[in-house]
Amino acid sequence: MQNISVDDNIAINDFEKIVDEKHLKPGKSLYRHKKINLYKAENGNWTATVEDGKFYTVNVRIMDRDKITKCECGCESQRKLCRHCTGVLFAIREALNNENI
Ligand SMILES: [Zn+2]
Repeated sequence: MQNISVDDNIAINDFEKIVDEKHLKPGKSLYRHKKINLYKAENGNWTATVEDGKFYTVNVRIMDRDKITKCECGCESQRKLCRHCTGVLFAIREALNNENI
């Protein structure tokens, strides 16, 4: 289990800046192909399951409306935002944008 504390509390609109290049396209692809089931919990917590060969669970916390303070994935990826986290962050951003309408 990787446990990333997103040190800069980067805004969800800017998260691509901290995603490793090699995870960005696969993450966007998971999002575009609707491989992400997103659930909003309380207190800024989100849980998602990502279908990528098998199912991965991703936990994210968004504070102050748009600051990413946590992104955890069950995969064995290195200590960076993996493609599952990346895909989930795309999905959360879309959900938050829709809320703001
Ligand atoms: Zn992952």
